[in-house]
Amino acid sequence: MHEMGIAMQIVEIATASIPADMQCARVQRVNLKVGKLSAIVADSLRFCFDLVVKETPLEGAELVIEELPVVVRCKACENQWTVTEPVFVCPVCKSGDIDILSGLELDITSIEIEDED
Ligand SMILES: [Zn+2]
Repeated sequence: MHEMGIAMQIVEIATASIPADMQCARVQRVNLKVGKLSAIVADSLRFCFDLVVKETPLEGAELVIEELPVVVRCKACENQWTVTEPVFVCPVCKSGDIDILSGLELDITSIEIEDED
């Protein structure tokens, strides 16, 4: 279950991003972009996140996960398309030699911090 390690990294990054003069601030929301090929199960990540945020400035924060589609490009004919099923063959020329343009991301897009009052 690699989601646990990822959840811990998110907490580390988010905690480090809280400005020094806002040490009592609480993180309200963490916005995440996850590619469909990154092998992250959103539900397990949320579950792990809820466990690791205890007694951190992220306790009670909401984890918002946006899943990104897998976009690939055929190296033979430059055709570009969004993969909706686990078939990585170009629909135009049937070549299997493709580049993955997106779908592997794991990015924290923003962290919303609440003031201490
Ligand atoms: Zn092609």
